[in-house]
Amino acid sequence: MTDEREPATGVDPAIYKTLLESTRAIPWKIDWKTMSFAYIGPQIEALLGWTPASWVTARDWAERIHPDDRERVVQFCIAQSEAGVDHEADYRALTPAGNYVWIRDVVHVVRDAQGSVESLVGFMFDISERKRTEEQLLGLQAELQDLSFKDALTGLANRRRFDEVVEREWAQAKASAQPLSLVMIDIDYFKQYNDHYGHLQGDACLKQVADLLFGAVQGRRNFLARFGGEEFALVLPETKAEAARKLATRCRDAITRAHIVHAASAIGDGLTISLGVGTAMPANEHGLMPFIEAVDRRLYLAKQQGRDRVVAEG
Ligand code: GH3
Ligand code: MG
Ligand code: MG
Repeated sequence: MTDEREPATGVDPAIYKTLLESTRAIPWKIDWKTMSFAYIGPQIEALLGWTPASWVTARDWAERIHPDDRERVVQFCIAQSEAGVDHEADYRALTPAGNYVWIRDVVHVVRDAQGSVESLVGFMFDISERKRTEEQLLGLQAELQDLSFKDALTGLANRRRFDEVVEREWAQAKASAQPLSLVMIDIDYFKQYNDHYGHLQGDACLKQVADLLFGAVQGRRNFLARFGGEEFALVLPETKAEAARKLATRCRDAITRAHIVHAASAIGDGLTISLGVGTAMPANEHGLMPFIEAVDRRLYLAKQQGRDRVVAEG
């Protein structure tokens, strides 16, 4: 009678087999010389749907990898195996129904006494749940990023985004010796609007003004943000003073034409805005802050001069 027990450990090989075939990871072995499967755990059928008998050569494995993953994974695994380095690869494995399951293949390279590669043994793990979570996280991250730069009420870029964009455009205008224009916009008598119509309608009005302004300033690189409260800012790269003044006037006209009723306004019965406009050549000037302040002073002038107007330089 032959004793099948391993003398060193005393463990019956049947126990190994049971353990291997009852784990959720799927064991396999590929003979390196013939590039064919010497073994694959029967669990593979429950996971991917292919019978163990259908895994004959390494080609069967390669052909069941998603076309977008195949070259990367096959090249990587061959290179690592040839170098005798243990490795792992994530890829999407095909099912007979044409779906894909995310797999992590963890590979150990077995060498003979001379050091030549003899076989590869490994485990396939189902990582689809982890991938789903990862993708969800990435999606949430993108959404969060988006939200952190967006004003919730108007959907326009928020102040944080404005700061970033105006700084970037300033640097770019400086580098390319181009003009940069800025328009600061403020709704007239908006406190009275709120007092008269209530805060909720005030919100709706702000949203309407944002939409009207957005529609009026459409342009390649024109950038409109909610600066704060009932104020908006328009950044106009590569825009000269005259074009900026025209665009500001178009904004004012868009609000006027919308005839938003404002019974509590001191200057008429419709909602109006005041605008300050400035143009800088950042290559020749000191800094962004003095520029923004100068434009803000023009907005203040527009208020002083009676509101519902554009004040530009000159
Ligand atoms: P001026 O013509 O001088 O600009 O007068 P104004 O009343 O528009 O200016 P003021 O700065 O006195 O008031 C701005 C008002 O804007 C006060 C505030 O209640 C209102 N406001 C700011 N943010 C919001 C908002 O998100 N929703 C609403 N409904 N109102 C807001
Ligand atoms: Mg204001
Ligand atoms: Mg105001």
